[in-house]
Amino acid sequence: MKVLVIGGGLAGSEAALQIAKRGIEVYLYEMRPKKFTEVHKTDNFAELVCSNSLGSLELEDARGLLKHEGLLLGSYLLNVAKETSVPAGKALAVDRMLFSKSITELILSNPKIHVVREEVLDFGRNDIVLIATGPLTSQNFLNYLKTIFQDNLFFYDAISPVVTRESLNLDKMFFGGRYGQSSDYLNVPLTEEQYKLLQKELSLGKQHLPHDFDRVFFEACLPIEEIARRGFDSLRFGPLTPKGFSQEYYAVVQLRREDKDGNLFELVGFQTALTYPEQKRIFSLIPGFENAEFVRYGSIHKNAYFRSNRILNLDLSSRNFPNVFFAGQITGSEGYSEAILTGLVSGINISRFYLGKKPLVFPQNTMIGSLIHFIVENDLDNPQPMRANFGLIPKDYFSIKKSLRKQKFIEDSTNAIKKLLDEI
Ligand SMILES: Cc1cc2nc3c(=O)[nH]c(=O)nc-3n(C[C@H](O)[C@H](O)[C@H](O)COP(=O)(O)OP(=O)(O)OC[C@H]3O[C@@H](n4cnc5c(N)ncnc54)[C@H](O)[C@@H]3O)c2cc1C
Repeated sequence: MKVLVIGGGLAGSEAALQIAKRGIEVYLYEMRPKKFTEVHKTDNFAELVCSNSLGSLELEDARGLLKHEGLLLGSYLLNVAKETSVPAGKALAVDRMLFSKSITELILSNPKIHVVREEVLDFGRNDIVLIATGPLTSQNFLNYLKTIFQDNLFFYDAISPVVTRESLNLDKMFFGGRYGQSSDYLNVPLTEEQYKLLQKELSLGKQHLPHDFDRVFFEACLPIEEIARRGFDSLRFGPLTPKGFSQEYYAVVQLRREDKDGNLFELVGFQTALTYPEQKRIFSLIPGFENAEFVRYGSIHKNAYFRSNRILNLDLSSRNFPNVFFAGQITGSEGYSEAILTGLVSGINISRFYLGKKPLVFPQNTMIGSLIHFIVENDLDNPQPMRANFGLIPKDYFSIKKSLRKQKFIEDSTNAIKKLLDEI
């Protein structure tokens, strides 16, 4: 009986390292570089396909708490993320190349992990398998999975452009963070006139959409032009909010540092489906962007996942095949940290299954437990991918005063994870 991890992304890499840590030989299948997804650019494991930020590190933020749990549980990827972080205030942002290269080195140097660079088309039913092929699972494999796990769902997701710092006119922007939180962001203040022009051009901008596109956007990650189309002020109340600065502005475009040296910056909230020429034309209207060099344009992609509420158990194994586990975005969870944590849980549970122990159900008084309970137990016909959030925690907590609720949950989750450490 072999242990196979299919997909060397965030979830698969974390899972393979967890399985190897428990002394078990694991075969990690990754189709890159023979075959690329629409957004991956390198042959590195754990490549971040869009933003370089893994979100907040603050415990009062659900994704911050999720990371705290992951670090307590010994997440390899989160530890590497900390080692390769770039300044981003209270968020954990990384130098993406350094991050994925470090993970790749960890995997390639691990004698228990056998890397196979092949597109998986199917798998033997007697092996122990982790499906972690992500939102851009190859079509051939997706077709195979559909024959076993019924229909899958999908939505469309967009990524933001990245520009070089040296191509920007820094006189028209300033370093600083909203609400005095951090000075690591570049901010471009817009006058009313400049905002008007940008809003108009964005709302009229020409998009490049997939041929079978049917306008199912993920509401939490709307393309900037879609936001612009929802009304004149929608950008000012969204990604271009002028709030939180000591001085008053009409609107502010923010840029987040991409790499350790600060040579690259991503436009925060500017995920887009505009054609490349339209991006160049319209984003060059932002003050200081007159000669901006785009090292990556924004783009839109299909994003596949399964209805976990019909196929998975709470330990992330599948209902019909106890030896087949799922992790990452394909479970209907959403986000980098969520992919890492579900990979960690599956890695632990596959190891237990292999060793003849009962896989663990993470309790609901942890953020990862709450998230998994939601994706597996919700009764929705068309669930949308879910991020960690405090709305998912057990309803008993809602009888606690709001100001104390998070604190109580953070305390409980920390204790629950510490208790689990003896078992894993
Ligand atoms: C365009 C886009 C942008 C996103 N932006 C963000 C963001 O900014 N922030 C955020 O938090 N989340 C973002 N997400 C969501 C999600 O967090 C990431 O996609 C994350 O990488 C998911 O991790 P994963 O391990 O599930 O999948 P991935 O990291 O995508 O890993 C899956 C791996 O499986 C491989 N693979 C696929 N099919 C096969 C096969 N048949 N055989 C072998 N290997 C295969 C792929 O090459 C890939 O390496 C984005 C998603 C998309 C699609």
